[in-house]
Amino acid sequence: MMADDPIPTNDADPAGTTTAFDVAAAVRAGTVTAASLVERDLAAIAAREPELHAFNLVLADRARAEAAAVDALVAAGNDPGPLAGVTVALKDNMCTHGVLTTCSSKILEGWKPPYDATVVTRLRAAGAVVIGKTNLDEFAMGSSTENSAFGPTRNPHDPSRVPGGSSGGSAAAVAAGFSRVSLGSDTGGSIRQPAALCGVVGVKPTYGYVSRYGLVAFASSLDQIGPFTTTVADAALLLDVIGGHDPMDSTSIPQAQPSLLRAIEQDVEGLRVGRITDLPAGADDDVVERLELAFDALRDAGAKIVDVRVPAFSFGLTAYYLIAPAEASSNLARYDGVRYGLRIESPDTNAMYSATREAGFGEEVKRRIMLGTYALSAGYYDAYYGKALKVRRLIADDFDRAYQDADVLLTPASPSVAFPFGSKGDNPLAMYLCDVYTIPTNLAGHPGMSVPFGTGADGLPVGAQILAPALGEPQMFRAAAALERAMTKELAR
Ligand code: GLN
Repeated sequence: MMADDPIPTNDADPAGTTTAFDVAAAVRAGTVTAASLVERDLAAIAAREPELHAFNLVLADRARAEAAAVDALVAAGNDPGPLAGVTVALKDNMCTHGVLTTCSSKILEGWKPPYDATVVTRLRAAGAVVIGKTNLDEFAMGSSTENSAFGPTRNPHDPSRVPGGSSGGSAAAVAAGFSRVSLGSDTGGSIRQPAALCGVVGVKPTYGYVSRYGLVAFASSLDQIGPFTTTVADAALLLDVIGGHDPMDSTSIPQAQPSLLRAIEQDVEGLRVGRITDLPAGADDDVVERLELAFDALRDAGAKIVDVRVPAFSFGLTAYYLIAPAEASSNLARYDGVRYGLRIESPDTNAMYSATREAGFGEEVKRRIMLGTYALSAGYYDAYYGKALKVRRLIADDFDRAYQDADVLLTPASPSVAFPFGSKGDNPLAMYLCDVYTIPTNLAGHPGMSVPFGTGADGLPVGAQILAPALGEPQMFRAAAALERAMTKELAR
């Protein structure tokens, strides 16, 4: 069933993986059925999922039914939409109507949301097929997916290593060919860092670009949903579908966004690419080497490399670990055994709250709740939370100044390639440092993306991060497409 249905491959795709773009074109044209493509992905899942554990839940029957519905539309002469037959895996912190949504936490045990997240509604309306819910660090807190209550996800490139996190399952699913595309959430780097470690494209859009309605909140002022894909064009396609105003999210930007698919038709001639001269040190040599080649590639493609300074960049991590836990401590107060998931029966209500929270939350989540509660507590509020908000402002101001001279900035996405399991497990600070290059963007509310740019130590993927000002997605995608073209050329040599 799988091998009999060859579909055209995208020449721009170095790995030869079938893209969402090609799938949608073939399914819409009626040359391949969505049903056969779902079977192909389910076969890939059957072969490697036991080893990789990308999913908390594979929705085989639902996916088959959705694919059949897409095929029926095509057979009837209708257009299922721009993502016709494209399989998508959803990070398991996005609400799916009637389907378990766990956040990889024991505290949500048995919870089935009574509604779909807006992104899920939009994907389905565009003809996409939801194939499963992916593993994550509990409540999206972590950089390795080791904090999942259901066990870690493994990196498809080397199963002895982490896939990154917190959206490790979504990154691994796309890298392993379990689904054409996936969605993750990025609060401080949780899309871009796993994308880098798994060798796929990952995008954190401008805050408010994609609706957060139905995304289980971690730190509401930072959380954004975004795509994982094998190509830049697929990421553009996906964002064109899931982006745009949603009245259900009061922080959603109330204006239509220009097509990113259209944007990447334009090259980078004259685009100003900034090099942050005071970027915090700490990236491994192999990563720095690849980054230099990325600058060269953009210069060769016609971009202009300029030096910029973002002095407050290096304070990002510190500010984030006050602001994000503060918001988390408030958001996670709702899990008390009364309305959702787990309840540990106890003699009185207060005892029930604490027994439930003690049993339901993992160690890292408890650490964040304590950090956040402390940062917000009377007498410390100004010294910690209030100060962190001021630093956040400084970071945004510094970026704004840098973007007067540059259209986009280029940095590493992750300081290192994928690391072995357990290597940072007992050292929260070492884990937090994984996001040193991704966090400032979230604090500023700006977009960022990671594009695979070759390999570093042990042949493992390296990601180049492109940053842009608010709503700078079009130029960010243009730079990403240029890097992708350069990589295709490098691989052809
Ligand atoms: N790794 C960071 C953290 O643990 C970022 C997580 C995220 O973006 N969700 O908070």
